[in-house]
Amino acid sequence: MNVLLDEVSVPPEQFSPAPRYLSVALTNACELRCAYCYAPKHAAVLERERVLAWAVELDAAGCLGVGFGGGEPTAYRGFAQLCSDIAQSTSMAVTFTTHGHRLTPELVESLRGAVHFVRLSVDGVGATYERLRGRPFAAVVQSAGLLGTLAPFGINAVINADTVSELDDLAEFADKVGASELLLLPEQPTAETPGISGADSQRLVEWAAIARTKVRLAISRTGLEAALPTTEVIPGERPLDAHMHIDATGILRPHAYAPTGVSVGSLIMEAAQALREAA
Ligand code: SF4
Repeated sequence: MNVLLDEVSVPPEQFSPAPRYLSVALTNACELRCAYCYAPKHAAVLERERVLAWAVELDAAGCLGVGFGGGEPTAYRGFAQLCSDIAQSTSMAVTFTTHGHRLTPELVESLRGAVHFVRLSVDGVGATYERLRGRPFAAVVQSAGLLGTLAPFGINAVINADTVSELDDLAEFADKVGASELLLLPEQPTAETPGISGADSQRLVEWAAIARTKVRLAISRTGLEAALPTTEVIPGERPLDAHMHIDATGILRPHAYAPTGVSVGSLIMEAAQALREAA
């Protein structure tokens, strides 16, 4: 739990030097072939000891949470051990985003107590999901059931021409499987895909304006900054105070889509400082 005391004004020089949250692509490996995937396709993987050392350093510098992605983090060798080591060695929240198709009762058991929130990627429901992800929809429903025994979890959905007409269905699905949040991610452009169209973005914004979902709704504003109203979460907080991302080759970036970053040596806070100076 994070508690925001927003009646207390903190001068920027007293802000924690670490970002509030760090996302980490542990590996580029993933057996699915989603057309809109932005994960790099070259083989790359981070060493477990390095990631643990960075987590300990970030915790001491005031970071509140680390979120694993990829690629597919459950394809990472020693994934459960890494989560467990971080949960025991730091006070940070440990989260991960998964396609869910590698989850087994054994893996869920080994993650128990080591993970505080999970995001399950479900792009569309039924036949749409099966066409986009190439896996049975029943299998991801089963994964949601397994996750429900592990930790609070949310549903992530990429929104594009295929899924924008299924927003109501996705909200109903998220509620039905017991998710605590539905996070909508407007498809971002990659080398292979143009990203969500202007017309579909507009449909998403209009839907969100009147949606009355039972499940909590969250929307990534990337690409929709002008269309979605927002409030300043923490007054004075700059983007690099809120979030940084490490890719599977050990480059620290402002976010996963950023074209450039800083190579991380043994100390991640040195790289974080260099990233701030370059911004
Ligand atoms: S499941 Fe995620 S990492 Fe794997 S191909 Fe699809 S979008 Fe990429």
